[in-house]
Amino acid sequence: MYQITLIPGDGIGPEVTASAKALIEAALEKHQSPKIAWDIQNAGQTAETILPDVLLNSLEKNKIALKGPITTPIGKGFKSINVQLRQKYGLYANVRPVKKIIEGRYDENIDFVIFRENTEGLYAGVERVDSPDRIIAEKITTRQASERIGRAAFDYAHKLGLNKVTVVHKANILKQCDGLFLESVTKVSKDYPDIDLEAVIVDNMAMQLVMTPSKYQVIVTTNLYGDILSDLSAGLVGGLGLVPGANLNDDMAVFEPVHGSAPDIAGQDLANPTACILSGVMLLEHLGEIEAAHSLYQAVVDTLNTPSKRTKDLGGTLGTKAYTEAILESLGSL
Ligand code: NAD
Repeated sequence: MYQITLIPGDGIGPEVTASAKALIEAALEKHQSPKIAWDIQNAGQTAETILPDVLLNSLEKNKIALKGPITTPIGKGFKSINVQLRQKYGLYANVRPVKKIIEGRYDENIDFVIFRENTEGLYAGVERVDSPDRIIAEKITTRQASERIGRAAFDYAHKLGLNKVTVVHKANILKQCDGLFLESVTKVSKDYPDIDLEAVIVDNMAMQLVMTPSKYQVIVTTNLYGDILSDLSAGLVGGLGLVPGANLNDDMAVFEPVHGSAPDIAGQDLANPTACILSGVMLLEHLGEIEAAHSLYQAVVDTLNTPSKRTKDLGGTLGTKAYTEAILESLGSL
């Protein structure tokens, strides 16, 4: 029996995690794999305290979680729970695979992975009020964190036999901070002579991704650029409803979709759960349940192949629940 922490989150979080949970269970059952004992834990606005100790204890014990998005107040209020968790546990790699699985704006194949540094940069959240008219935010870059995310990206490329890693920076302006990030990733690249390192300035990268997304295999970048480029990249392949993610360190893994809590569509059976389901596929791979992961991935792809079986954000007619049922059916018949 696997012990896994489930954080439903808020907004559309409970809807998309319920879908992913049901499908992960069905995929494991199909392959007669061990079941999961889910430890369900609330955080954020749905919890008694924003980040309860009982949730932290669960994560520390289980070391693996499926997490829905959690709303962060804008301009005031508590610090993002997502950022707190990533920083508290040093979940240094935010790994976001961007893959074209439905037809869309691009004929070319799109298949790359973003490695976003997940613990520092502008997300250090250190802001200082000099005066009401002058606020200073600190952007923190360390050699250790930059080399660590660089190594994660190169290790991944090496494991998959890929021949290029693209490091994205703004070292022309932020000569010290982004200069150190670029220098650190460049140093790591010397240990991988078969993999080319390409360095691209972030504004150019935004344009390049829109113009020729098929050129990229692995992208490694800082926290804020990674966040922005992830949403841009989701737009290349059909939207935020489709892109999964994982927050990793060397002994803990928190899987969650790239998207946020989408308050505009919450509670209306409108959310596309694919990003969360594909985060579940990554979770199954992490458990070593490769056959279950493959079956679930294939069931998602097969379901999406029928345009009428898609959710509304993709031009289909199905709600979250009916779409989940359609994938369950496909899983059963595979
Ligand atoms: P968002 O990702 O929630 O939504 C952006 C747009 O995409 C909205 O129009 C939404 O309806 C749509 N969308 C997102 N996911 C979708 C899905 N699965 N299916 C269909 N449509 C989907 O971004 P936002 O509106 O900028 O942020 C809302 C809240 O989420 C904020 O409080 C933010 O802090 C939080 N957030 C949390 C996380 C996280 O928990 N990891 C990540 C990003 C944002």
